[in-house]
Amino acid sequence: MPDELLERLRRFQTDAFPLQRSLFRHLVDEGQHPLTLFIGCSGSRLVPYLLTGAGPGELFLVRNVGAFIPPYDQSQGFHGTAAAIEFAVLNLQVKRIIVCGHSHCGAIRALYGEVPAAAQNLARWLDLGREAALPVAEPGPEVLRRTEQRAIVLQLERLMDYPMVRQQVDSGGLTLHGWHYVIEDGEIHVFDVNRGRFVPAADADNAGTGPYQRFTEADDLDYSGVPLMSNDD
Ligand SMILES: [Zn+2]
Repeated sequence: MPDELLERLRRFQTDAFPLQRSLFRHLVDEGQHPLTLFIGCSGSRLVPYLLTGAGPGELFLVRNVGAFIPPYDQSQGFHGTAAAIEFAVLNLQVKRIIVCGHSHCGAIRALYGEVPAAAQNLARWLDLGREAALPVAEPGPEVLRRTEQRAIVLQLERLMDYPMVRQQVDSGGLTLHGWHYVIEDGEIHVFDVNRGRFVPAADADNAGTGPYQRFTEADDLDYSGVPLMSNDD
């Protein structure tokens, strides 16, 4: 039986790589200078390079279950996402950070259910999204959609607790972007802090959150910045 994965590896080297050989050579000689840290859910249907039209050298990429941001201030543990944030901001000096969740997210759905007993790391990891969950037992599609969006805003909040992120955002050197990708429409909904909601990319003014403010300061919003009841139209 042919090893399909091995064949794909060989095809990359013989077919795809030659087309970008000089670009990769340049990225080796000059080093990487990506402008964007992309923190996305691990979900296989979320394809950052396709969505953004980016190529080699353009995205510093972190994927994890749910696109969650661990707290900056933690006394123990190994946190790859936290390390990546620090590296991207302090070493690479990225200009934007995208937090990208998506529709039909298994991590968000898992907030409303049980995880296998052996999945102790997963159960703990999901704690990073629990504040976004709504008080319903059986979430329908609309509740799940809201929870996905609320979780993204929650992560942006937590991102601002990283001192190097806050400093760069406050000085105008870094922008934050909360994205919700609707798989079936092929459309990103961008969190607009001024409008206090997610806006389809087709109707958005820009790809970012706008001037950052603590979302809790706006009175018509709940703690996560996403209204509980209204639609995002
Ligand atoms: Zn997901």
